[in-house]
Amino acid sequence: MRKIFFAASILICLLMCGCSQNNMREYTENIFAMDTVMDLKIYSENDEALSEAKAEIRRIDTLFDRGNENSDIYKINKNKSADVSAETADVIRTALSISDRTGGAFDITVAPVMDLWGFYGNEFNVPSDDELQSTLEGVGYEKIRFDNTNISIPENTGIDLGGIGKGYASDRIANLLKNKGVKSAIISLGGNVHAICKRNDESEWTVGITDPHNKSQLIGKLKISDKAVITSGAYQRYFEQGGITYHHIIDPTTGKSADSGLASVTVIADSGMTADGLSTALFVMGLDKAIELWRGSSDFDAVFVDEGGMIYVTEGIADVFESDADYSICKRND
Ligand code: AMP
Ligand code: MG
Repeated sequence: MRKIFFAASILICLLMCGCSQNNMREYTENIFAMDTVMDLKIYSENDEALSEAKAEIRRIDTLFDRGNENSDIYKINKNKSADVSAETADVIRTALSISDRTGGAFDITVAPVMDLWGFYGNEFNVPSDDELQSTLEGVGYEKIRFDNTNISIPENTGIDLGGIGKGYASDRIANLLKNKGVKSAIISLGGNVHAICKRNDESEWTVGITDPHNKSQLIGKLKISDKAVITSGAYQRYFEQGGITYHHIIDPTTGKSADSGLASVTVIADSGMTADGLSTALFVMGLDKAIELWRGSSDFDAVFVDEGGMIYVTEGIADVFESDADYSICKRND
């Protein structure tokens, strides 16, 4: 009998202290949206900003949910050509630029493959090689065509923003809260953390990184402020069949769960969208190619855990990473 494992929630821990040195009050909220559990904590004079943040998450969920008939993504996937909001077009353009940057490791046209494996809808199934090959014909980010905000795709292609949507939502919430005058907040959209400014006592936020081999433990912590910290891991969503584990991060060249030797990748960046897209892509690329990309970039840092439990931390965040375990620091000029 098929045994199904589905990670109920992502356990990047937020180690937060509510101590206050000013007259701000702490407001927290826990909601289910974008297919995951979201935790919001803000320091403010009232809960107005928190209510607006919740409404914004619901709005973005509706815009991108490919199962919702009112969403832009549903319209593109169903009609193969649709006029969408400028916002959706921008997110798709950003996704395509991450595809270019990562040699196609990030590819939002994996939708038909996600469906074939049953990850969308949780009706898990291991496809035959023939099924996989014919479904892969529809995959390829270069197949997406733009005419301003009109987006079209071939008949056998579909779009899935699951690898970037939460990062986009976290950017929107961070901007919204700052525009409302919030000086301290932290949000976790299913483990996609965005720390807004510093903690209320002016110290750095502490964001824990889950041990991909033991979800109840951390492999380390980061002391950061004003950053997105986003993890992609094989442990976050998977099923098991015939003693084999299949997870939800797809290598677009094979249509199968990425098998690059990595167990998790955490990306730290100013932009949630960049961190989200890159964490998925770097997971697919594997350590060596991921480090090569990092060396040629200046907009992110990363923590990698490989399948053997080895931890690699890029130079830019080495000073703010703490761990009881041994880890290697990746240098820019090695
Ligand atoms: P994340 O948890 O951000 O790594 O995203 C994983 C989700 O992104 C999956 O559940 C799919 O919806 C989608 N996805 C899977 N593989 C890819 C890929 N190679 N490129 C872009 N999106 C992907
Ligand atoms: Mg992602």
